[in-house]
Parts: sequence; structure tokens; C-alpha cells
Amino acid sequence: MQADIEIFKLIEEEYQRQQQGLELIASENFTSTQVMRAMGNVMTNKYAEGYPGKRYYGGCEVVDKSEQLAIDRANQIFGTSFVNVQPHSGAQANAALMLAILKPGDRILGLDLSMGGHLTHGSPVNFSGKLYDAHFYGVKKEDGLIDYEAMEQKAMEGKPALIICGASAYSRDWDYARIRSIADACGAFVLCDMSHPAGLIAKGLLNSPFEHCHFVTSTTHKTLRGPRGGIILMKNDFENPMGIKGPKGETRMMSDLINLAVFPGTQGGPLEHVIAAKAVAFHEILQDEFLVYCQQVISNAKSMAHAFGERGYEMVSGGTDNHLLLIDLRNKGISGKKAENTLVKADITINKNMVPFDDKSPFVTSGIRVGVAALTTRGLKNQDMENVVDWIDRILKDTDNESEIQQVKSEINQFMQSFPLYPDWKINSKH
Ligand SMILES: *Cc1c(COP(=O)(O)O)cnc(C)c1O
Repeated sequence: MQADIEIFKLIEEEYQRQQQGLELIASENFTSTQVMRAMGNVMTNKYAEGYPGKRYYGGCEVVDKSEQLAIDRANQIFGTSFVNVQPHSGAQANAALMLAILKPGDRILGLDLSMGGHLTHGSPVNFSGKLYDAHFYGVKKEDGLIDYEAMEQKAMEGKPALIICGASAYSRDWDYARIRSIADACGAFVLCDMSHPAGLIAKGLLNSPFEHCHFVTSTTHKTLRGPRGGIILMKNDFENPMGIKGPKGETRMMSDLINLAVFPGTQGGPLEHVIAAKAVAFHEILQDEFLVYCQQVISNAKSMAHAFGERGYEMVSGGTDNHLLLIDLRNKGISGKKAENTLVKADITINKNMVPFDDKSPFVTSGIRVGVAALTTRGLKNQDMENVVDWIDRILKDTDNESEIQQVKSEINQFMQSFPLYPDWKINSKH
């Protein structure tokens, strides 16, 4: 068969784009060569509906072992007793978890999307807002921190079946013990969706949700730095209190309900090549180098916050505990959309983002979200954060100055040559 020149040329082009630019999208990272190798191989050919040892297809002896390795390593990282490594993405993990523990129409309480929450936490355009009765808490206007009092009040009034914590654009840590006590008082389960800070939680640099939250979901491709995918975890399995029985009339354990909700509930065959890549990423996370990486991520984020602050930028909550910053551009007189569209011309990728109490639409927004997980993987350190913020500032100060944009772009392209991406793996059609 003829080689597909078009697609492999585009992969090469994408590689160049990633190599030469400043990647500041908070949800992105650069996974390792090993993780990518584990993703692109013969395991993609295998059907393996079911779970290790309990499959609906023959020939699963090998993928049983690799899926079991992924499970064991994830449990080791987080000190959990249950994990399902099959969700194809973070959204799939949340869909399956909610299918396992809720009935259509049940009430859920999550962080408002416009305050940093995620689509899958009850947005009306998402399954979570269509299937469930979604209510929201937010952050406080005065300090941008989670409004636990409002959460408690809404929980006691509305008696949700599930309280969801975790966010896509929140730069501070969470008080999981407090959320659990609110949930216990109103009879709710607690789900922590740790998709963003999961890597920092894995290495003990942020509060752990596992003691307090019944369920934890995550993506595997953000600060966990693995392949694109999702996981569902529990510290302790327990008998479901909803009275759901198994085929022999026995009370179902939560772990059974979750496994059934992933397959056959919301997915068919698992992506065993991606699960192998998750296992590789978990192996990397267990190493000490990953702790050094996570410490550098937090340190870089703090340096970046300092550099933005010195240049008069306002940050929601005034700074960061994790890998990201939410910058409110209203005092600079530019929208998030304008900032995103101008910065990308200089090969700086960020995303526009609503800020709490935003007066602009989600398509325009008043803010940008900036994360350092990817640049830290490239090898950038604290002193480099100053340069990065300087480049951003030069552009945002004068968004119509095309020659300045071109000048910044060439400085960035030059600079990033000192941080080679995948030097040991040339991605092209000859492989
Ligand atoms: C990124 C994210 C998700 C969704 O992950 P996908 O893999 O894109 O489906 C879910 N929840 C939160 C909090 C996220 O940040």
C-alpha cells in the first residue's frame, strides 16, 4: 500500500509547531517517548471487552497482564484499593461514574463552569446537565476562593445526591474534609475530579482527596503527563447504599457498579494500547524524577505569578497553589479572545477563559488561563518564567504591533531550540 504522505507530513508539521512554540495551555503536557511508543503498536488490534480475567474475547492473556499492571501501579501511586483504567477520556470517566451512582433526574452540585468548573459537572450543553438536575456553587467575589458557605447552604437546601469538587480553571487547593462534612450532613456522595492537579496530588504536593471523597476521577494527560485518557478511583470500596442488587440478589459493591458503568454502561472495547501507555506513565510517576518535576511545576507557577504581578496583571485569587494561573485582563482593556488570537501569532498558546463574575460571553471572556506543566516538561526553570511573561506582556501591551509580534515570535523560536522535544525520536513517514 502507498504511504500516506499527507497525514505523516501533518504529523511532522504538528511536531514542528510543538517544538518551536511556548505551550502554556494548562491542560496540556508533553508525554514521554516511551508513553508514545506504548500507544502506537499492535495492542490497538486487540478486542478485550470486559476486565482482566473476565473478558468476552479470546487471546486476552497478554493485555490482561498489561491492564493489571496499569491498575496495580495506579493503586500504588494513590494508595487506593480500586481503579478502573478503561475510560477513554476524563469526560468518559465522569459519565461512567455518574451512571454508576445516580438515576436520571437526580440532583448534582458542582462548581459553576463560569467560575472554573468543567462541562461534565452539570453544564446544560453536556450530558451531566441534560440527564441530571444540576445546581452550582461558586467562588467568593472578594478573594476568588471557593465559597464553602454557599456550597453548604445549597447542599442543605437542595439535598443533592452528589457534590462534585475539582475544576478546570482554579489555581488554589481544596478543603476536601470540609466538603465531606457538608456531604455527610445532606446525605450526598462526593466526587473529586482531580483531572488538572492529579500529578501534584500523586506526589503529595497538594491535599489528597482520597481520605474524604467517595470517588475520584481524573484525566491521565494533564499533570499526570500520560496518554490522553481517564481513570476512576476509590480509596475504599463499599456496599452501595442505593439498594442495587446483583444477579443472585446480593448487594452490589461500588466497584462492581463502576466497572459495569464503564463497560457495558458507556463504552465498548477498551483501548488496550492506551492502557499500556497509562501503565508506562504510572511507572514514570512512581519514580523520584517525577517528584522533582512536580516541585518544579509549582515553583515555576509561583515565579510566573510573581512576574505577572510585577507587570500589573491581576490574578483570580491573587496567585496559585498549583500549575496554573487565571489572569483577569479587565484592567488591561483586552478580552481573552483578543489575547489568545494575538499571542498565537507569536507561537504562544494559551486559552481564553471566563473569570468569576465575567461580564463577557464564553466566546469572548475577560481572562486567560495559563499553565506551566508543559513548559516545565520541556525543561524551563524559574528564571525562564520571567522571559515568558515578558514576551506575553510585550504582545498584550500593543496587540496591533505586527512587527513586535514577529520579533517576539522569532525570539521564542530561537529560544525553544535549546529545549529539544523528543530528540531521540524523529516522527516521520519512514517509521
Ligand atoms: C480536562 C477535564 C476533563 C475532561 O477531560 P477530557 O479527557 O477532555 O474528556 C474533565 N474534568 C476536568 C475537571 C477537566 O479539567
